Amino acid sequence: MTSSTAPQPSWLDEIPARLADIERAHLLRRRRVVEPAGGARLWVDGQPMLAFCSNDYLGLASHPDLAEAAREATHRFGVGAGGSPLVSGHSAANDALEHELAAYVQLPRALYFYAGYATNTGIIPALVGEGDALFSDALNHACLIDGARLSRATIHRYPHADLAALEAQLAASPARRKLVISDAVFSMDGDLIDIPALLALCERHDALLLLDDAHGFGVLGPEGRGSLAQAGLTGATASRRVLYMATLGKAAGVAGAFVAGDTALIEWLLQKTRTYIFATAAPPLLASALRQSLQLMAAADDRRAHLGRLIAQLRQGLATLPAQLGWHLLPSHTPVQALVIGSNEAALAVMESLRLQGLWVPAIRPPTVPVGTARLRIALSAAHTEADVDQLLVALERCAQHALTRAPG
Ligand SMILES: *Cc1c(COP(=O)(O)O)cnc(C)c1O
Repeated sequence: MTSSTAPQPSWLDEIPARLADIERAHLLRRRRVVEPAGGARLWVDGQPMLAFCSNDYLGLASHPDLAEAAREATHRFGVGAGGSPLVSGHSAANDALEHELAAYVQLPRALYFYAGYATNTGIIPALVGEGDALFSDALNHACLIDGARLSRATIHRYPHADLAALEAQLAASPARRKLVISDAVFSMDGDLIDIPALLALCERHDALLLLDDAHGFGVLGPEGRGSLAQAGLTGATASRRVLYMATLGKAAGVAGAFVAGDTALIEWLLQKTRTYIFATAAPPLLASALRQSLQLMAAADDRRAHLGRLIAQLRQGLATLPAQLGWHLLPSHTPVQALVIGSNEAALAVMESLRLQGLWVPAIRPPTVPVGTARLRIALSAAHTEADVDQLLVALERCAQHALTRAPG
C-alpha cells in the first residue's frame, strides 16, 4: 500500500521450487549429448548405445550423398540464406526443391519451410481466424495444437480417431470456414488415420483438411510418397480440400518441412503465413541435401522392405511378454511402436534398466501423452539390423522378469 511495505518476493524466486516440483513428479527432462557411432548406434554422454529413439526412419541422415550435396551447395551458395524468402532468401536451391517436393508427393504446388513446428503454427492461423471453426484430433502433435490456439478460431477437440464424433461436431457447427487438422501417423502411438473417411467427412461439410504426415512421408506409400499417396489421393485423384504437410528432418534425414496442395491455397499461405514471411529462409545447403534425399527416398524400396521386416520382428517378439505385467503394445504398422507401461515412474524404470543394458529407448510421459499412459516409444529405422532388434527384445524380457519379481503379490 505504501512505499514502506516489505517488497513482495519476485515470482522469479519461485522458479527453483517449481523445477523441484517437476522433478518430484518424475517429469524433469534431461538432454543427453550425442554423437553418431555408426548404424543405429550413438555415443550418449560418452557411452556407446544402441538407439531406438531416432526418427531417421530410413537411415538416411548419415548418408554420404547427403553430406556431399550439402558440401557442394556450401561452396556454391554459402551457408546462410541471408533473408526471408519474400525478400532475398529464396535461393535457386530452395526453389528447385519446392518443385521436386510437389512432384514427389504428386500435388500441384509445395512451400518449403525451415521447420515443421513453424509450418503448423504458421499455416493454421493463415487459414482460419476468429469466427471460424477448427476440428482437432485429441492426440494431435503439439504444433498443430499450438497453431490452432494461435488462430483464435473456435477449437472442437474430438476423441482420437473418432470420426463419428467429428461428424457430429462438423454438422453442429454454424461456421462458414471449417478446418480439420490431424496427424496422418500419430507421433506417439504410431497408428494411421483413415484418410479417405476423413476426407469424405470434409467433402460433406465443406471443410478443408490439413494432414500432418511427419511420420509417414518417406516411409508409407509407393516410393515412400507418403500416407496420402498410399490412400490413392494424389496425382489425378488429388483433392483441392487437402493440405498435405510433412517434415524433412525425419525419414528425409535432413531438416525442415513443407506443405503441399492446391495452387491457390499454397499461394494464399505464401502471402499470409507469418512464420514464413517473418523468418529467415532455410539454408540452401539443406535444400540441396534434401534434393539428394528425395532421389534416395524414391529409390529406397529395399530400406522400406527391411524396415517392414524389423517392425514385424519386434511385434512378434513383444507379443510373448508376460500378460500379467499390464504392458500394452499399441496397434501400429509404422516404425513408431509404443509399449505402454502406465505410470511415469515405471516407464522411467524400464528406460533406465534398458540404458544399463546399453540400449536407449525413450520413456514418453505426460503432457506429451495422456496421464497414466507413460510408454516406451520404440522407433525403428532401416539403420537397425535384425540382431539389433533381437538385442532389444532380450533386454525387454529381462526388464519384464525383473518387474514381475518386484511386483507385490
Ligand atoms: C516432428 C513433428 C513436427 C515438427 O517438425 P520439426 O521439423 O521437427 O519442427 C510436426 N508434426 C509432427 C507430427 C511431428 O512429429
